[in-house]
Amino acid sequence: MKPIAGILALQGDYEKHRKSLKRLGLRVRYVRSPEDLSGLSMIVLPGGESTTMSLLLDSTGLREPLREAISAGLPTLATCAGTILLARELQGDTGSRQVDTLGLLHATVDRNSYGRQVDSFETTIEINWQLIGGLADDAPIPAWFIRAPRILEPAAGVEVVAKYDGEIVAVRQGNMLAITFHPELSKDSRIHAAVLGFAEQAG
Ligand code: GLN
Repeated sequence: MKPIAGILALQGDYEKHRKSLKRLGLRVRYVRSPEDLSGLSMIVLPGGESTTMSLLLDSTGLREPLREAISAGLPTLATCAGTILLARELQGDTGSRQVDTLGLLHATVDRNSYGRQVDSFETTIEINWQLIGGLADDAPIPAWFIRAPRILEPAAGVEVVAKYDGEIVAVRQGNMLAITFHPELSKDSRIHAAVLGFAEQAG
């Protein structure tokens, strides 16, 4: 049986991740309730609006089951708003739009920290593929930054997988890969493939 990849599909750009995962020949399941978490080989926490996603985690009852599944080792790819949701600490997040995070990633994440002038851009990123399992094709990957957060102060045990312009844009902590950009807007599924491989590395 083909592995099943889950995508948290409460809000945001989960459809594009579906295409990335399908390209790897996986079965894909949209995760919208706690039952949807069973039998997954990996999960994607997509980009979108972390404030809204956080509220929907509560109304769907997904918050605790999702936290438990990721804590128990489910390979997890978090992108952009997904990275905000994973973070232990948020910076620059005050007032009515505060996000209640899952608190699993031992780093501080700064929301919308690129500011208005450069709030979205496209580039290519050099990845330290060795830190995420090593892939035969280690060319840089196309990446889009869309009102991206910044990853600050990764704790011990959180490995920096990629930097761009001096900023940390990808970190790995065990079964979690948290990135601040969007890899799902190109036809390149190598990041998704790497996270799927985390299960084998753990086993
Ligand atoms: N700025 C958004 C947030 O704070 C994240 C943007 C994105 O996911 N592309 O949730």
